[in-house]
Amino acid sequence: MRDNPDRLRVRFAPSPTGPLHIGGARSALFNYLLAKGAGGDFIMRMEDTDRDRSSPESEENIKQSLLWLGITWNEGIDIGGPHAPYRQTERLATYHEAAQKLLDAGHAYYCYCSELELEAMRLKQIDRGETPHYDGRCRRLSAGERAAKEAEGIKPVLRFAVPKDEELLIEDLVRGQVVFQSQEIGGDFVIIKSDGIPTYNYAVVVDDHLMEISHVVRGEEHLSNTPRQLLLYDALGWIRPAFAHISLILGEDRSKMSKRHGSVSVVNYQAEGYLPQALVNFLALLGWSPAGEEEIFTMQELEQEFSLERVAKNPAVFDLNKLRWLNSQYLRALPKEQIADGIAAFLTDEWTEERRLLLAETLTNHIETFSDVCNFLPLVEGSEPLTCDEDAAAVLAQEHVMSLISSFAAKIETLSELTPATIKETIKQTGKELGLKGAALFMPIRVAITGSCHGPDIDKLAALLGKENLLVRLKHVRK
Ligand code: GLU
Repeated sequence: MRDNPDRLRVRFAPSPTGPLHIGGARSALFNYLLAKGAGGDFIMRMEDTDRDRSSPESEENIKQSLLWLGITWNEGIDIGGPHAPYRQTERLATYHEAAQKLLDAGHAYYCYCSELELEAMRLKQIDRGETPHYDGRCRRLSAGERAAKEAEGIKPVLRFAVPKDEELLIEDLVRGQVVFQSQEIGGDFVIIKSDGIPTYNYAVVVDDHLMEISHVVRGEEHLSNTPRQLLLYDALGWIRPAFAHISLILGEDRSKMSKRHGSVSVVNYQAEGYLPQALVNFLALLGWSPAGEEEIFTMQELEQEFSLERVAKNPAVFDLNKLRWLNSQYLRALPKEQIADGIAAFLTDEWTEERRLLLAETLTNHIETFSDVCNFLPLVEGSEPLTCDEDAAAVLAQEHVMSLISSFAAKIETLSELTPATIKETIKQTGKELGLKGAALFMPIRVAITGSCHGPDIDKLAALLGKENLLVRLKHVRK
């Protein structure tokens, strides 16, 4: 029995077999929000039983990605808690203990079938038009037969004896009622492998029970595992937790989200200059819909607003433009010092702090992520003339342009310091002298410097470019 049956306890239980993906991050977030909203517990457990594919690097990546997103756990790996250890390979004795109970009660049995035998069984079943399943042949071994196999040195696996004709009903908090039939789940399944390592379906049940998990919230890909898990809860005499299976995340072409659709790992978004607050906001909206029109939510607001009732059954579509838009909203709200720090990762060391700050100020409303800064660097670095589009070329073809640019360049020559203010003033003076204002004055200067009719403030861009480069660009126009 759980110590406090009313307390909501959820967990994120990743397998450290690769970096944290968007889908995993969303599962972690939904669990975290549920726990926070209900004043419950969020547990972080490492399901590292796949020894070939698990690695300390993946574990580290998952932890760091969660922390970067602002998702912390109040029980779990690294920090411990009342149900430690929280790494499955450190809990083997616990799984063996529960397995012994299943064995003693006749719910489990040793199976000595070789890979070859299992494969032959599978092929025969396919031949007969049956769905492959373990046919239960080792269930009926006598004590003598078992002893003979042991004497041969065969290391058995432990299988769960799936009862016949049992209806397995999941009252899924997202999907509603989902029914499976026990005879359709692939036959008696392995719970402990021959090397003593538990399988996922078994270890997850033991852990979720002992860690007093009240709600299992995870990806839809695990729905088909749930009937096996229900059988284990029942056989062990344990109360089943509530289940909620969240829909898949699809790419924009409606196929399962994969690398093909762009970055799938959280670290990639971090490296590409996204803000964690924006990614959290975006992930929350992947499957969950808020009650009102508002789309921008801080973590604290999400903790209050989030509920499983508003999580959709249909798949969520990953819309990168939406993520970029959300990111731009958070980016614009940052102080310029933080934007300057964020873009620093995409700039060479030659960029002094002062110039970085000016660049941040110049680009705040023109970039959606920090890495977008790279698109603007050609505007403010180097003396090469920038290729003009048709509109820009038409601006430069106007009759008054040559004298305007010459006079502007001459004034720039005399400036000892190029700042947005001195440049603004120079443009103003040039206009006064030549009797030009508005677009007739500003547009040719803009195009001469940037090659385009649109873009960030020209006085700031010119200041960033520096006197030497600016003069070379102006000279190109007069050629
Ligand atoms: N280790 C499983 C995974 O990473 C966890 C599934 C679950 O939450 O039950 O997919």
